[in-house]
Amino acid sequence: MGVGQIKRAVFLDRDGVLNPVVMRGGSPASPRSRHEFSLIPGAGEQVARLKRAGYVVIVVTNQPDVARGLLPQDELAAMHRVLADEAGPDEIRFCPHDDHHECACRKPKAGMLTQAADERGIDLAASWLVGDGYKDMQAARAAGVRAVLISADYNAQVEASQRVADLAQAVDLILEQG
Ligand SMILES: [Mg+2]
Repeated sequence: MGVGQIKRAVFLDRDGVLNPVVMRGGSPASPRSRHEFSLIPGAGEQVARLKRAGYVVIVVTNQPDVARGLLPQDELAAMHRVLADEAGPDEIRFCPHDDHHECACRKPKAGMLTQAADERGIDLAASWLVGDGYKDMQAARAAGVRAVLISADYNAQVEASQRVADLAQAVDLILEQG
């Protein structure tokens, strides 16, 4: 990236974007052990496409099961080692809190995005978020980034300006629109 060029990011939600959700009681949920965690096919290639186009790729994921005592920190760390090794994002950020903590990082709040932008000098208006839930779409709006929703059975009711079938199509759209 040349001097004076705008620094752009693509923020990727994790569950339902880079790895399949785990269905619990008919609702999409997060993996609670490394054994429930695997990347979708081609996740690494899609991250690589974004990085080749000059985007900083940052995973931003709510993991309230940490606060709820349902997800041990070492299991989360093990998942994120797999994610780092196999998909190669520039950074993985997670919020371990639950609603009652009233933190600034839990989506739909924008904290994970705005903090990364502050630290790295990222232009949020030139950036994107890819997610699969309403909290992702709201966090994108709050941060002032453009959003793409990956369609799934469980998110038909979610309002989204742009909807695609999968991560590969999300990357196609981002690379087309810049
Ligand atoms: Mg998700």
